[in-house]
Amino acid sequence: MKLASFETQGRTTYGIVDAAGLYHAVSNAFQQRFADLKAVIAAGELGAVAGAVVAQGLGADQVRLLPVIPNPGKLICVGLNYKSHVAETKRPDSDYPSLFLRFNDSLAAHDDVVLRPAFSERFDWEGELAFVIGKGGRHIAKDKAFEHIAGYACFNDVSVRDWQKHTHQFTPGKNFPGTAPFGPVLVTADEVPDVTVLTLETRVNGNVVQHASLGDLIFDIPTIVAYVSRFTPLSSGDVIATGTPGGVGDRREPPLYMKEGDVAEVEITGLGVLRNRIGTDHSAP
Ligand code: MG
Repeated sequence: MKLASFETQGRTTYGIVDAAGLYHAVSNAFQQRFADLKAVIAAGELGAVAGAVVAQGLGADQVRLLPVIPNPGKLICVGLNYKSHVAETKRPDSDYPSLFLRFNDSLAAHDDVVLRPAFSERFDWEGELAFVIGKGGRHIAKDKAFEHIAGYACFNDVSVRDWQKHTHQFTPGKNFPGTAPFGPVLVTADEVPDVTVLTLETRVNGNVVQHASLGDLIFDIPTIVAYVSRFTPLSSGDVIATGTPGGVGDRREPPLYMKEGDVAEVEITGLGVLRNRIGTDHSAP
């Protein structure tokens, strides 16, 4: 099942995307019980969504997509999780996953214009797989990790490299508003029996800039879930982005950055294409 959060006719809602690409919102009665996708996941009622949507489908031109989970309690990103990316950053290997956090207002939706701050030229892509926690938990064992995942989506951890590297803490460069497109849909875990066979590709203006197998993660999803849930509880709707492979623009020779009018795409097998145009935020004085 493909799920989406979206606005239509002034209403913020969610529902399913059918095989023809039409959006079916949940009924008003269902939304009164479960206000948003996170609430449905927390209630363990994802399986009820398909039976609770209105029959009439909406075309893509009738909806404005939102990040698939607009309001995660925790938005955790793994850095340096492909050998190809660790190598290009020239950082040493680590025994533990490198983690940083994003604020929810740094999320964006499919089709949103992602704004580069006018005071930075170093605006870079990072195609990634993200997963959403279904059943929460603490101290989750690796062999139980997949029981805690509701689904998967494409993620673009767009980074303002100079602000990322002011110090050894990534936070500023990873948290400019609306710089993390997440979607277009959430594909439920039952449709992804083996994550390791998926392929991730990032394109800028149609040119392939990253291409990798999800089987190449240094810290696989069970390891990430076990490690994170050791120090903090994971809750329904929490989002974890699993890291980006080699091929980021900042490490190219010469470097290549995104600018106004560019189109960034992240595609993962079976999860769709997450597409965003780049703009410029001129609001800074
Ligand atoms: Mg990243």
